[in-house]
Amino acid sequence: MSTVVAVDELHRLVEAALANNGYSREHAEALTEVIAGSERDGAVSHGLHRLGQCISDVACGWVDGKAVPVVKDVAAGVVVVDAQNGYCQLAFKCGRDLFVSKVRNHGTATLAIRNSHHLAPLWPEVEDLAGAGLIALSFRSGRRTVIPWGGRRPMFGTNPMAFACPREDGSPLVWDLAASFMARGDIQIAAQKGEPVPAGAGIDTDGKQTTDPNALLKGGAQLPFGGYKGSLISFMVEVLAAAATGSMLAVEDRSTEVKGAMSANGGSLILGINPALTAGDGFAARIQLLLQELEGNGEARVPGERRHAHRAASEKNGVRVDAAAMERLKAWAGTTR
Ligand code: NDP
Repeated sequence: MSTVVAVDELHRLVEAALANNGYSREHAEALTEVIAGSERDGAVSHGLHRLGQCISDVACGWVDGKAVPVVKDVAAGVVVVDAQNGYCQLAFKCGRDLFVSKVRNHGTATLAIRNSHHLAPLWPEVEDLAGAGLIALSFRSGRRTVIPWGGRRPMFGTNPMAFACPREDGSPLVWDLAASFMARGDIQIAAQKGEPVPAGAGIDTDGKQTTDPNALLKGGAQLPFGGYKGSLISFMVEVLAAAATGSMLAVEDRSTEVKGAMSANGGSLILGINPALTAGDGFAARIQLLLQELEGNGEARVPGERRHAHRAASEKNGVRVDAAAMERLKAWAGTTR
């Protein structure tokens, strides 16, 4: 069963649910943009599906919903933000303007976020930066869930990465993907629905490939995408997002083994390039040339197109959401705590 809700109303309800359940107004606003935005864009594994986890994460003390990020201007091309055990979305917002000014002035800069949590897509931050005229790359560390190609023990997170750049005609070009064969949220949704996952998603406790999402989630592990090549990209994301930001490596994660273990200390690394300085005039027009070639090329399509089409439809007709998820949302939004 499903129901339809207007984008603004969905936004209002999600923000109220977070504000009523342990989040400061600033965190509630930042998280709402990604949770309601994901649902609006048809990226349901990072929409309302995540709200219960956000609420229980604060209730059990795993996340500080009122954390105030600390921004440090470390060098001409480096901004470091300590999220103080809060969600990364607010940390990004706090460091964003200083980072953008450094990229604009110096041609390139790095934003390193540490001591943070993240259960959202990465496209919101890179889409925002590309909207400001920059090329942006984002990398995110995670908890220990993915085995290296040919291995038996998990050693990586699902290690997502995203890329965006401005284009001459239309909203920025954006792609955003996990370095695992499947995003974990999609595996959880398959388990909830009692549906199998595609072959290649992961292994069971005996190390055998399985299509049973429960076997994979309970004692099994995920596989990287693209065989050894995805495994190497996952390694790179681990270095950039975890090691290079001073955050926890997935192999240091003891949170599932030790009750009350220290919080995850996850990292995000965001790189910015100012094409006006590196390429001069005409960058966006040349991207347009690339996109024209892609669009006229058989079945090939522009990444981000599906999500943007979903967004336009949601803004016009409202967002179709699972009816049970909507009831839970209303209950959280009506709670005063
Ligand atoms: P998908 O495989 O669904 O999509 C990956 C990217 O490829 C998207 O940008 C998508 O664009 C694009 N794409 C898909 N099909 C095509 C095609 N035929 N031609 C061109 N482009 C295409 O993503 P994942 O399942 O790997 O990841 C889902 C989300 O999970 C991501 O947003 C990721 O950031 C998030 N995630 C977050 C984690 C965290 O720790 N916070 C951990 C892991 C994942 P389009 O949207 O238009 O389909």
